[in-house]
Amino acid sequence: MSYSWPVKPFDKQHAVRGFFCDPRIADGEKSFHFGVDVSAPDGTAVYAVEPGTVYLSGAQNMAVLGARGHSYWHVVPAVRAGQWVARHALIGHIATGWGHVHFAERAGGQYWNPLRGAALTPFADYGAPVVDRIVAERGGLPLDPAALTGVVNLLAVAHDNPPISAPPPWDGLPVTPALVRWRLARGAAEVVPWTTVADFRSTLIAQSRFSTVYAAGTRQNHPNAPGLYRFWLARNWDTRRHQDGSYRLAVEAADIRGNVGRGHLDLLLVNGSV
Ligand SMILES: [Zn+2]
Repeated sequence: MSYSWPVKPFDKQHAVRGFFCDPRIADGEKSFHFGVDVSAPDGTAVYAVEPGTVYLSGAQNMAVLGARGHSYWHVVPAVRAGQWVARHALIGHIATGWGHVHFAERAGGQYWNPLRGAALTPFADYGAPVVDRIVAERGGLPLDPAALTGVVNLLAVAHDNPPISAPPPWDGLPVTPALVRWRLARGAAEVVPWTTVADFRSTLIAQSRFSTVYAAGTRQNHPNAPGLYRFWLARNWDTRRHQDGSYRLAVEAADIRGNVGRGHLDLLLVNGSV
């Protein structure tokens, strides 16, 4: 069952400046973003997307618990704890300095991606994510992909662009793709089948897995400062398990609506010549 936007107009798509599972890195803490950041000016009225009972958590965080739970962060409540609210009831206003409501959906003990099909509606995504770069490295140092030997790490830098840009200073900043996968081929022969390394399309990934999905050097967005999303494709990948020769490493990054961006890196394995 789908639900509307938490700000007016309910039936029109709004700018989302933070996607589900975007990296959040602050004070040494690293986490997957557990909701979406709906951009709107400070003071904007926020409404319940579904009916339920109000739960207050701190001065600016609240949830409405019904069949599912929806939480609304950086919102000054206009309702009382325990109060029952109808769908589209006013529940609060965006707190000063935040410029967005962090909106999350929880059901069955898990956080869910609100942008998946049949959830937050309407939401269209235009344009495919971008695979910016594919890198072979060892110990953090880039390697020449045309002369690979021994054990290496494979990474991809990828991003998506929100379908509607938020206003400055959050305009033009990237968001994470919803899906990243790779495969290795030698000519027409598939050597490593499509392998998914990040899948943010449904439920939140365990926070303990953060550093197995996002590689060092990953940054989150800050005002006027774009984030960088570095995905591990393979760690400690032993090139000696494959014959020397030419291979093509293909990477796909997809958004929540299935638009796919592609990139590739040609590898030459040369273990026999060292
Ligand atoms: Zn947020």
